Amino acid sequence: MTIPYAARMARVQPSAIRELLRLGTDPEVISFGGGYPDPSLFPVAELAQVYADLLTPEHATALQYTASVGLPELRSAVAARLTADGMPAGPDDVLIIQGGQQGLDLAGKLVIDAGDVVVTDNPTFLGALIAFNPYEPRYAPVRTDVDGMDTDHLQQVLEANPDTVMIYVVPDFANPSGVTLSLPRRRRLLELAEAYGVLVVEDTPYRPLRYSGEELPTLKSLDTVGQVLHLGSFSKLLAPGLRLGWAHASPEVLERLALLKLAADTQNSTLNMAATAGYLGRYDLDAHLARVVPVYRHKRDLMLTTLASTLPPGVQFTEPDGGLFTWLTFPPGFDAAAFMAQTLLPEAKVAYVPGATFFPVDHEPNHARLSFSGVPDDRLVHGVSELGRLLTRTLGRT
Ligand code: PMP
Repeated sequence: MTIPYAARMARVQPSAIRELLRLGTDPEVISFGGGYPDPSLFPVAELAQVYADLLTPEHATALQYTASVGLPELRSAVAARLTADGMPAGPDDVLIIQGGQQGLDLAGKLVIDAGDVVVTDNPTFLGALIAFNPYEPRYAPVRTDVDGMDTDHLQQVLEANPDTVMIYVVPDFANPSGVTLSLPRRRRLLELAEAYGVLVVEDTPYRPLRYSGEELPTLKSLDTVGQVLHLGSFSKLLAPGLRLGWAHASPEVLERLALLKLAADTQNSTLNMAATAGYLGRYDLDAHLARVVPVYRHKRDLMLTTLASTLPPGVQFTEPDGGLFTWLTFPPGFDAAAFMAQTLLPEAKVAYVPGATFFPVDHEPNHARLSFSGVPDDRLVHGVSELGRLLTRTLGRT
């Protein structure tokens, strides 16, 4: 029979990078494609202890339903972290969600009617596009450089698109570009969002992973009018398999998000919330981060120095102060997907994510995203060197 799919399903399609990512799962392939944190850094022993203690008869409530907005202990712990990060909050100002990804879906459901405009960086996080697409927005991407979203261009885009309902931005070490939104641009973005009456969705999963440079205030901490929906995640702080994140916003916005969350999935896993709250109470998350950050800093430095010494002229890369990614820009006309499929994978067994898919509208082919997490040092240096060698050969020919 023919299923009467909703019109929105026309916007829900498998992404073209799936096949390329599948090629990258061959164990012989050195893959810079994944954006996963390094599992060897997860605090497995500590979490094992916490889960073991919870799975006892006296803690059976950890297997029971709980409040849809999240386990009170976890909301309090998140509120304390937000407060320490310049966003004074109590437990009621926190909604626990299934990772930042659910926050994107709920934000889309909250403000996007079909045909409304969503403003994004260019390039932007593919997962955000996937989350927003079913709500049938139009996208208005804003020029993005090493200081993040260009706010002069943002003003033009907002002026030209009166139907804009949301600005989506990853201010700290963006995925895929690795760039950080500068402080003057943070302030200007908020001024513009207020002037044009749009919601700012601030997505911060990489914020705890800073390796260099000065910490900048979150957009939420600069928000005086309740215009920012701040999303955070335990995925890079602790482990993504917990599927835990948080939304922090004005009571008005948070109440509505909570209603949507209840409808979507009732609540997060009580067990995972209790275990994470238990971990936070018993262990020192900041001490854990202090062990993790130098490992990633070393990986970043190794990747950047190897790129600098092996890439041919005409290929640029960003120098992220944190997060997991650097973003390569090849000369105009270069097809990063074809180069990977025809040269890089077959000849060197090296993979990245071709960049076209991260552009909401105009899919520029001459970029790639490289992640420096999770590849051992020797393979990282070898893989990047091979990339440099083959690029030098290919570009030298044209
Ligand atoms: N936002 C960005 C920018 C991301 O890169 C990711 C994950 N890679 C997410 C949100 C969602 O992560 P999670 O749902 O695991 O918190």
